[in-house]
Amino acid sequence: MRYIGSHLSLTAPDYFLGTVKKALSLGENTFMFYTGAPQNTIRLPLSALKIEEGKQLWLSSGHSLNHLVIHAPYIINPASMKPNTREIAIEMLAKELDRAEAFGVPYLVLHPGSDVDELGDAAFTETAKVLDLALEASSSKNTLICLETMAGKGHEIGRTFDAIATLRMRSAYPDRLGVCLDTCHINDAGYPVANVDQVLDEFDRIIGLNHLKVIHLNDSKNPMGSHKDRHENIGYGTLGFETLEKWFKHPKLEGIPFELETPWLGKILPYRKEIEMLRSGQYETGWRETLIASESLLSAPDKSPNP
Ligand code: FE
Ligand code: FE
Ligand code: ZN
Repeated sequence: MRYIGSHLSLTAPDYFLGTVKKALSLGENTFMFYTGAPQNTIRLPLSALKIEEGKQLWLSSGHSLNHLVIHAPYIINPASMKPNTREIAIEMLAKELDRAEAFGVPYLVLHPGSDVDELGDAAFTETAKVLDLALEASSSKNTLICLETMAGKGHEIGRTFDAIATLRMRSAYPDRLGVCLDTCHINDAGYPVANVDQVLDEFDRIIGLNHLKVIHLNDSKNPMGSHKDRHENIGYGTLGFETLEKWFKHPKLEGIPFELETPWLGKILPYRKEIEMLRSGQYETGWRETLIASESLLSAPDKSPNP
């Protein structure tokens, strides 16, 4: 089975129920979400989020919670050794693990962080310690933290498979650490994404393919090795449709949730169209322009003359 969906928001008034409805309307059989605003630590109580209603709808539509993904807030920086930032990272990560468990979601994607203190190798030891402390502080027993492969912008750690493997090895709980591979990020980090087999072999040799739990399927605005991290719509970037379709349909990646994090077209979500093309293998040149034109036609005011 192939699982594909996108990064969606959790917004008032229906929260998780609304997110599930949105995912279903886009033809998704998986999706990823933030449990609140990604840039702050303010979280509504779980009781306000319509979790049960959302779960019921998702399950009764024939889908499983086992392929859902939560993205941890990006303000968490497990690699910062500033006392306050470090405490917040541990506390926030522990809470997010608890919340994932309450949602019944198995995967929590986390950016390994930025080595802002320029600790070099010691940053890996310290980051692994922060992950361990968060896992110990959380009551969650099952949620996996999925370390995301990063583009290598600024002091970002997690730019190479070796870096991710090192973090896993230095943790006391490597079994609680999975991996999220982002096609845009690894391209920008310098991996030849078009050569899927070569990249997967390298991943397998260094980390182990059994630890690959989530894929972020994005085209990239920039060439290989640019260290930029700017996502592009499927077919409009330097990776192209054929390469991304190869990833989605690769025999070794069966069963893994693929999440699109491609840019919106103004207020229009591109995901239904991107998913349709990836599933069918039929790329439609100019789809973005066509979609924008058809949507603006739909929302155009009724021009029929009054009687
Ligand atoms: Fe991410
Ligand atoms: Fe990503
Ligand atoms: Zn990114």
